[in-house]
Amino acid sequence: MKIFVATLGTETNSFSPLPTGLRAFEETALLRGDVRSEPETFINIANKTWLALAEADGHEVVQSLIAFAQPGGRTVRNVYEALRDEILRDLKAAGQVDLVLLFLHGAMMADGYDDCESDILERVREVAGHEAVIGAEIDLHCHLSERPLAFADAIVLFKEYPHTDVAERARELYRICRDTKRGLVRPTMALHDCRMIGFWRTSQPHVRQLVERMVEMERQPGVLSVSFAHGFPYGDTDRIGAKTLAVTDGDPILARNLAQELGRAVWNMRNRIGEEYCSIDDALDRAQAGTEGPYVLADTADNAGGGAPSDSTFVLQRILDRGITDVAAGCYWDIGAVRICMEAGPGSVLDLRFGGKCSPMSGDPIDLRVTVKACIPSLWQTGLDGLRAHVGQAVRVEAEGGIDIVLNTVRTQVYGPDVFTQLGIDILAKKIVLLKSTQHFYAAFAPIAKEVLYLDAEGTLVRDVRKLPYQHITRPLWPLVENPFSDQHDTERTTAA
Ligand SMILES: [Zn+2]
Repeated sequence: MKIFVATLGTETNSFSPLPTGLRAFEETALLRGDVRSEPETFINIANKTWLALAEADGHEVVQSLIAFAQPGGRTVRNVYEALRDEILRDLKAAGQVDLVLLFLHGAMMADGYDDCESDILERVREVAGHEAVIGAEIDLHCHLSERPLAFADAIVLFKEYPHTDVAERARELYRICRDTKRGLVRPTMALHDCRMIGFWRTSQPHVRQLVERMVEMERQPGVLSVSFAHGFPYGDTDRIGAKTLAVTDGDPILARNLAQELGRAVWNMRNRIGEEYCSIDDALDRAQAGTEGPYVLADTADNAGGGAPSDSTFVLQRILDRGITDVAAGCYWDIGAVRICMEAGPGSVLDLRFGGKCSPMSGDPIDLRVTVKACIPSLWQTGLDGLRAHVGQAVRVEAEGGIDIVLNTVRTQVYGPDVFTQLGIDILAKKIVLLKSTQHFYAAFAPIAKEVLYLDAEGTLVRDVRKLPYQHITRPLWPLVENPFSDQHDTERTTAA
């Protein structure tokens, strides 16, 4: 078999003030050619997995582009078109291929393209023809619709959030597509619309049960894959919302039933969405009342991984106003402030202004007398499953009261404690560790945290989606309406493809 592999994606936040241009891809991942010698990252692990499996099976692999951008606003039109067309050119040059395996995000929007994944899959199908088997691995934070199902033979989503199963899902997709080409299986997909916007963490026990239910469903005969598309609340498109997807071996009725059953389970736990959040002051009260730390506070509203600038100051300002001491906070994306600190060097004392720059959703800048404690020209942090993520230039500044702040130049969420410890910050000695991330920090921080608290703060990723100025939603969705199914006799809506 000849197998073609490529990656193109980003998670587009329609409400982000940051355009996604070529620089965002260059800074995150833009790889051409052989990835065998590349260190494993969240972004290239799918391609590396397919490459290893295909070679073990004795197949030929054509490696095309790997392009991924840190989430932000819409991708600039000519940047998206150039990256997409590069993959299509490589595919044409490869001649007739048997399998096309794509790692896409699922919530990518570009200027002029509301649904990049369907656009890519449609064009790939056009080039590869109907003889080829096309499979896509997609993030569960996606806007899944019927359209991509028409162009792909199989779509498999991550099951875990934090996304710790990218390689496992890549293996699953490989198996399904390879067996399809061999004539051993005939994938049939069914999608169910839950008609709701929500946010779930698979570390929560009730969401864990849902993951286990999917795995159980996959053990049934004739079931190839079952996915729960959580959706991405910050992409203003009519495709928004939670969906469930089942892939069976030539049994559309079974696929529909499974998608419906899972969708019903998602709908039934809607009232538990958001129960883990608390207000900034409640979280700070709790941390101050505790005798030991660290209390890990997640500023989810300013998570770069969801397209936020990662420079909002609402929480840190409140900590300063309340006179709380022994705090580590990061990462604040502030290229100018980093430049000033690097220029001054370790040991310098500065009146530094930082944060609060990108939009009103970032709050006001903070002015603070700080000592520059450490500067690292190129810092990497340990991410999901031990994978590495670049932080860029990073500096640690310390303010009175043991308040340590990490400023950086490559916009990223916090994944691991080493983003602090490499700069010499002893987070175990802190009362509060304030970090900008929604969930990917959890696996690494939970074991060392006295308690993990998710903050309901202002910012680009507000918790209550009813506050978002959606313009493009045309179907009823909970919680924007109480009963999104009131226009139907049945409470189900499933389409088979
Ligand atoms: Zn995601």
